[in-house]
Amino acid sequence: MKEKLYTIPLNDAFNADDECPFCYVERSLEQNAIDFVLGPGASYMESDIREATDNAGFCRHHLKMMYDYGNSLGNGLILKTHFKKISQSILDRFSKAEPKKQSLFSSKSSSSDNAVSAFIKESEKHCYVCEYYMDTYERYIDTFFHLFKNDHDFVKKLENSKGFCIHHLGEVMQKASSALNVQKQKELFDILNRLCADNFSRIEEDISWFCDKFDYRYKDADWKNSKDAIPRTMQKITGGYPSDDVYKPR
Ligand SMILES: [Zn+2]
Ligand SMILES: [Zn+2]
Repeated sequence: MKEKLYTIPLNDAFNADDECPFCYVERSLEQNAIDFVLGPGASYMESDIREATDNAGFCRHHLKMMYDYGNSLGNGLILKTHFKKISQSILDRFSKAEPKKQSLFSSKSSSSDNAVSAFIKESEKHCYVCEYYMDTYERYIDTFFHLFKNDHDFVKKLENSKGFCIHHLGEVMQKASSALNVQKQKELFDILNRLCADNFSRIEEDISWFCDKFDYRYKDADWKNSKDAIPRTMQKITGGYPSDDVYKPR
């Protein structure tokens, strides 16, 4: 494989013994991207970077991260020129937005789009921060399959892990067909099936015990592993770290 592999950080992510090693990787890439956009390097003062942020814009999740990060002047400058660009693009498209024959059935299909709604829908597919780390993130997925095929110790590590969150499980299951032959896919699916069965029931027990602890009969009983069952269950369902503090410059 000619592409760069990230074997050391991916092994670190598995060693963290988290609910999902890809959430772990994604968090660190996302934080690096926010540092790049708003951190002390002041990339927003470079005209090519600003042009790129003006064009791509940001998703809701990353605007919130940028707000929490707290570089007010950096945020202000980025928002000023991006907003000018997107607002002008929308105003320009109103002249091309044709009214359509009323239809109850097409309100969600693309045939119901006009120039303004189509532009907004397309804009919402882009985010400078998401796109900044997506290539590297894809390399991590490639690294996962590379190690799965070639590194026996890594397979052992996977087998002893807590598996993946449901979001990243979907990604791994889907990408397996282009990364692995049928035999290797079968081996991976067997491992993931067992990991899901074991770890879903572990999470179910934790969240059930968490609820039981509110019953007066269990008031003095041990929390077992349930104290942080809420953020871990949330992570298991959609990925991410709901209980993380907001990300600030280091
Ligand atoms: Zn995940
Ligand atoms: Zn984003």
